[in-house]
Amino acid sequence: MSTLQLQRHNYRAVHAGGQRILLHVPTTSLFELDRAADAVLGLLEEKGEVRREDVQARFDGAYSPGEVCDSLTDLLSLGVLADGRKDYAIAARPIERTPLNTLVLTLTTGCNLGCSYCYREDLTTPRAAALLEREVAMRGIDLLLREAVDHPRVNVVFFGGEPLTRFALLRELVAYAEEQAALAGKGVDFSLTTNATLLNDEIVEFFQAHRFGVSVSMDGDELNHDRHRITIGGKGTYKQVAQNVRRLLAGVSARPVGVRVTLARGNTDVVRLYRHLHDELGFAEVGFAPATAGKDAPFGLGDDEMRVVLDAMKTLGREYVQAARRGERHGFSNMNQLMQDLWSGTRKTLPCGAGIGLLAVGTRGDLSLCHRFTGSDFGRFGDVEQGIDRAALTDFLQQAQEPHPACRDCRARSICAGGCYHEAYVRNGNPLSPTFAHCDFVREWLDFGIECYGEIILANPAFFTARSAADPARAAAALTP
Ligand code: SF4
Ligand code: SF4
Repeated sequence: MSTLQLQRHNYRAVHAGGQRILLHVPTTSLFELDRAADAVLGLLEEKGEVRREDVQARFDGAYSPGEVCDSLTDLLSLGVLADGRKDYAIAARPIERTPLNTLVLTLTTGCNLGCSYCYREDLTTPRAAALLEREVAMRGIDLLLREAVDHPRVNVVFFGGEPLTRFALLRELVAYAEEQAALAGKGVDFSLTTNATLLNDEIVEFFQAHRFGVSVSMDGDELNHDRHRITIGGKGTYKQVAQNVRRLLAGVSARPVGVRVTLARGNTDVVRLYRHLHDELGFAEVGFAPATAGKDAPFGLGDDEMRVVLDAMKTLGREYVQAARRGERHGFSNMNQLMQDLWSGTRKTLPCGAGIGLLAVGTRGDLSLCHRFTGSDFGRFGDVEQGIDRAALTDFLQQAQEPHPACRDCRARSICAGGCYHEAYVRNGNPLSPTFAHCDFVREWLDFGIECYGEIILANPAFFTARSAADPARAAAALTP
């Protein structure tokens, strides 16, 4: 007589809109549980394991044998129940065939600011900076177009240091990329992350003309922004940045302009920051991320502050749900991302696109996993002359696809997949060793997201289809600064 066991690592069920919604963890698919399935799952949650016959007997008279049988079949097929532990392996990607579609060009290691939480190992002043040479950058663009097999469009991302310290080169590279992409029969999109201190009318017009996706690094109002985002000489930069942002938002309409806030010790009032950046300054999207910090960094967020951040994110998330019920967009980009992941059934075996569609060129032409690794001591996956070192990259990504034992049983694994390599590298010295620093945060945020998703889908299912149709024109795929 077979015994059915609950497989807690394969699902998460939450209440939303008066119903239970089940997230199937391996596939990030969502299911509304009908009354019979809810009751069957409830019994298993109470007992942990039961015999099939006991399930039938328990619900005899309450539900028809057919309803109970269907519920058991569905839960068994999802691996939510099994007669013994059932691991659902998420299919590994055929890495060696993954074409490139995004290339980050590190124009300089120099920045005119000296933000206290900056993670770059090789950051310098603009005067002492290592610079990407024009020819090297062009070979990078050639490489991208060559490697972007099957992609009708490619993305070129300008990064630094502060990329606008090299606007003259950036201009030339845009012209070159447009010309070469046209010859290759492809389209090309551009994006950039900037501290906004060097913006002027000429640059704003250029961004508009070439449909740049612009993401500004800014930390809120004057008090919060000037806590960490300071000049090399130690002065606050808010006034200058806010003035330039107004000019940018007035002049760039081709794509929505977003802002990225780095949350650091003492700067955790997410709702207030959002109000200022979205409602007062007018950014289309506002995203938040904690500062990357080693264990003893003075600006890292402790558990208490992460709790404050999560509560505030939920406040904004509830506003998002209310807006979605009315069919309106909300500019909280962390929530947008989570809803998008749930709606599209994201199934990650790797945490991000680093090394998969995306590589970054350092100032010497070396290829790194992503923009955060250029200039670091970790890894080199070829260069713009010799091309991608496929053997080294495949080896790294294959190791990365093997989940850490602690992640195997995590309900957030299809969305998180172990977290950012760079965060792991900074904290543990190994990009493949997850930090586990924010796992409770990630899981609680996911649970909250499932509830919100359920509420929106029940109240206004058209919200997600309308959103999807509009997405190609949405904010640039700007990188975490
Ligand atoms: S790093 Fe933490 S949250 Fe992410 S999958 Fe692993 S255990 Fe889950
Ligand atoms: S910063 Fe982290 S999450 Fe972002 S692309 Fe690099 S490794 Fe991936």
